Amino acid sequence: MGEEQARIATRDEPHDAITGVFNEVAVGRCRSAGRINGQRTPRAVLTALAFVKKVEYFARGRSGSLETQAYALVNARAFFDVDLNKFAHRDLPVASPETFGHSESVTSNERIQKALLAWYRKNARDLPWRRTQDPYAIWLSEVMLQQTRVDTVIPYFDRFLKELPNVEALAEATEDKVISLWSGLGYYRRARMLHEGAKAIARQPFPRTATALREVKGIGRYTAGAVASIAFGEVTPLVDGNVARVFSRLFGIDDDLRKPKGMDRIWSIAGTIVAKDDPGSWNQALMELGATVCVPRAPRCLICPLAKECHAHANGREHELPVMSAKRAPTVQSRVALALLADDGDVLLARRNESGIFAGMWEMPSIELQKDETPEACAKRLSRSLGASCEAVALRGEVVHVLTHRRLEVSVWGAALRSFSPPRPTHLAEYDTVALMSRDEGAKRTKSTYGKKLMKMGFPTRSRGR
Ligand code: SF4
Repeated sequence: MGEEQARIATRDEPHDAITGVFNEVAVGRCRSAGRINGQRTPRAVLTALAFVKKVEYFARGRSGSLETQAYALVNARAFFDVDLNKFAHRDLPVASPETFGHSESVTSNERIQKALLAWYRKNARDLPWRRTQDPYAIWLSEVMLQQTRVDTVIPYFDRFLKELPNVEALAEATEDKVISLWSGLGYYRRARMLHEGAKAIARQPFPRTATALREVKGIGRYTAGAVASIAFGEVTPLVDGNVARVFSRLFGIDDDLRKPKGMDRIWSIAGTIVAKDDPGSWNQALMELGATVCVPRAPRCLICPLAKECHAHANGREHELPVMSAKRAPTVQSRVALALLADDGDVLLARRNESGIFAGMWEMPSIELQKDETPEACAKRLSRSLGASCEAVALRGEVVHVLTHRRLEVSVWGAALRSFSPPRPTHLAEYDTVALMSRDEGAKRTKSTYGKKLMKMGFPTRSRGR
């Protein structure tokens, strides 16, 4: 196809970006571009022509993700001086983009960056962690925001920073203090890892790159990317659930995002497209778009700054993407908990092992109900394991607590404690300590929402006298 033909073929097409590149090709700027595997073989020419036809198809706005368009364009450029008419009616093979190992179209990426950053500057929510460049505060916010909603996090974030304003203060704080400040946010392992990380960081200058941050125990790929890009301006990507959804729809990624291959692909795209001049804002803008516009169930494409570039929107696939295989249903675990109250008003509590679910947390002791065991028999077995003798064991009620992969259904039994001589070590696999303490102390030590639910059910009214 000659230059004039290319101009004629493309001047009336509606898609500016595609016609722009076709015209660029037509004026000869890319005519000397390379060959497939360094050779212009008949097969390579046919493949390139197939791409040319695909580009024409996409240019009419019918199909194709930006990514595929980009690949097609790159390959079309290399062969544009071939007479297309000779092959116009053949059934041409289409090679996959991977055949050629090309990356995203730079032009397309730049348009996306410009549109999204402009939108973010106008529409970003005013959140406390966005008013600071302090890496400690940004790190704290990112850890708190994992699996927790923004509205829930704000008061916790403010209180935590007020009490422990810098990484040194966090490193020196007791675990009890850290867990108290976290109490109610759930997923307490996050708080413990944050605490551990602070102890490591306080001994050195704050790591400034994603690679250095990942050396710190408990800091993963996402958090490292967030802190390095937002606090230190490192050109490094991040991917969370919101970002993955946006990229899947924007570029028409059909891979299952619950599989490592799918997420690897998203990370690879994120690394290619991260804005070099303001990576921190870019990463936040992506997350903001996913949280407020490109939301899971009803994406608001009409007000989306990327609508013109979006594969899913152009092809009516907003509700098809991202592809996510079904979540594993949480396994149900039936347990029995025992609320033991001594004559003097003390309560019997147990502390979870240092690893595993609710690690290190105090709560009313409980064990898993065995197959064919009645809850009452299980409650008695539990009291024996605790080294407690009790009377009048009675059902108080049931507590249900849902975790990411587990649903705990706990039958709560109460009894008067007559004597207590705890075996050491404890006979309970999930606890390392069992102790009697006052109701007030018990309430203070019970910090998990799960533990608080058990306490409320097991000791419904406060006893007087202590
Ligand atoms: S146009 Fe719609 S589907 Fe595409 S990125 Fe925007 S909100 Fe998401």
